Amino acid sequence: MNHLLKISNFIGGKSVEPLSGKYLDNYEPAIGQVYSLIPDSDANDVQLAVDAALKAFPSWSAMSNDDRSEWLIKIAQGIEDRLDEFAEAESRDNGKPVSLAKSVDIPRAVSNFRFFAHALTHFSSESHFMQGIGINYTLRQPIGIAGCISPWNLPLYLLTWKIAPALAAGNTVVAKPSEVTPFTAYLLGKLCEDIQLPQGVLNFVHGTGPQVGEPICIHPEIKAISFTGGTATGRRIASVAAPMFKKLSLELGGKNPNIIFADCNYAEMLATTVRSSFSNQGQICLCGSRIFVERPIYEKFKADFVAKVSALKVGDPANENTKTGAVVSESHMQKVLSYIQLAQDEGGKVLAGGQRIYPEGRCKDGWFIEPTIIEGLSHDCRTNQEEIFGPVVTIMPFDTEEEVLSYANSTIYGLATTVWTENLTRAHRVAERLESGIVWVNCWLLRDLRTPFGGVKNSGVGREGGMEALHFFTEAKNVCIKYQ
Ligand code: NDP
Repeated sequence: MNHLLKISNFIGGKSVEPLSGKYLDNYEPAIGQVYSLIPDSDANDVQLAVDAALKAFPSWSAMSNDDRSEWLIKIAQGIEDRLDEFAEAESRDNGKPVSLAKSVDIPRAVSNFRFFAHALTHFSSESHFMQGIGINYTLRQPIGIAGCISPWNLPLYLLTWKIAPALAAGNTVVAKPSEVTPFTAYLLGKLCEDIQLPQGVLNFVHGTGPQVGEPICIHPEIKAISFTGGTATGRRIASVAAPMFKKLSLELGGKNPNIIFADCNYAEMLATTVRSSFSNQGQICLCGSRIFVERPIYEKFKADFVAKVSALKVGDPANENTKTGAVVSESHMQKVLSYIQLAQDEGGKVLAGGQRIYPEGRCKDGWFIEPTIIEGLSHDCRTNQEEIFGPVVTIMPFDTEEEVLSYANSTIYGLATTVWTENLTRAHRVAERLESGIVWVNCWLLRDLRTPFGGVKNSGVGREGGMEALHFFTEAKNVCIKYQ
């Protein structure tokens, strides 16, 4: 094991070993083997990071907006300059195609830093004039230390989506990347060391949820928690952090509907639906996993969709032509396969995929699952109600708008919905009635970073993105001045 690369924590501007000296295995999903070791940190390492972040806070929060903006731009530029290194690390950690990491994940991480670098220089607060009496204005001040906890599916993208606004607003940060995909955060720490970001402004503590995530959530000096992950973990975090009156932003699970009306632009819908179902092996919180198709085009859609999905190339993520890589871990693969079995037990028919794949060559022991399409299930069975978070979708026909809205809104989740129709009136009407944080009409994953992002119902509370993220990471104070 000694020859394996050891990832370190990044605390106080330096790479440091975990105080306990303990490490965990980090697996490469495409080959099913350990390829590095990550710190098995605990509350003592979190305390070190908090000490560093507390020390850095006075000067970072007092720094001019222009100077803070410059630092974020330097980080963005650094990631862009090392695009290949970051993309390869992300693919190796997560199993996703390196081409996807290069074209989506890493460029979007760069955009996160660039966007908030600019947003902070345009940030303004509200004022409210009380005619003839006085004036109120809102003073927004950094909170102190922000705790950022992120999942494994889009490791650098989702981590930077939290870190960038937290730093932009003048906070210092203690972050925990997913234990399953730590490598890009490790590279980001190295980058911050190279560009000499002021020490303690940004700290990464690697390790498990219970040993590192929870100590972050209950630490009295960490005033805000921004978390993205599963609904059960979100519930646990809320139960420990809410009684401490911390600010909480929880971006949680989903079971997103994709609603296809017969009058849609068919070719565009079909191509996008393949992507929205199976990008990143279906492990994007925004992927559509329940596809509802208006009856007149159902059979045609079924045939075309099955043909396109069956042709997706599954294999070595390092190969530029691969469209579908490995799922993130062996336990996750087993969970997804168990849902495919459950779907069949519930009466579903597998139209495409359904099996584990053993690619030839170096990936023969990797964790691969065929992109899978299932039909014949009711909208309220477990397969159509629970989050699977893998390359599995169900398809079913519908006859009326009312009917499809009742199917779409029938889960505990409400993260994102895609609607395909050329009927503008219907698009607005349906969008209004969907219980969903995001409604995409005739597109998917089109993001404008100025817009608030997040789910409703059990998909989360709080909104990230745009100026709302800067608001989240600040404390608002009302100053009321009477002049009469
Ligand atoms: P988890 O909830 O298992 O983990 C998310 C993060 O929380 C990890 O870093 C994890 O650490 C940590 N964690 C676990 N337990 C605790 C705890 N008690 N206290 C603090 N932190 C803890 O999610 P996954 O990593 O499995 O990610 C997949 C989930 O994320 C899916 O449900 C998906 O829908 C959701 N997601 C939601 C998005 C949204 O925007 N709404 C976007 C992307 C994903 P460790 O790695 O050690 O377990």
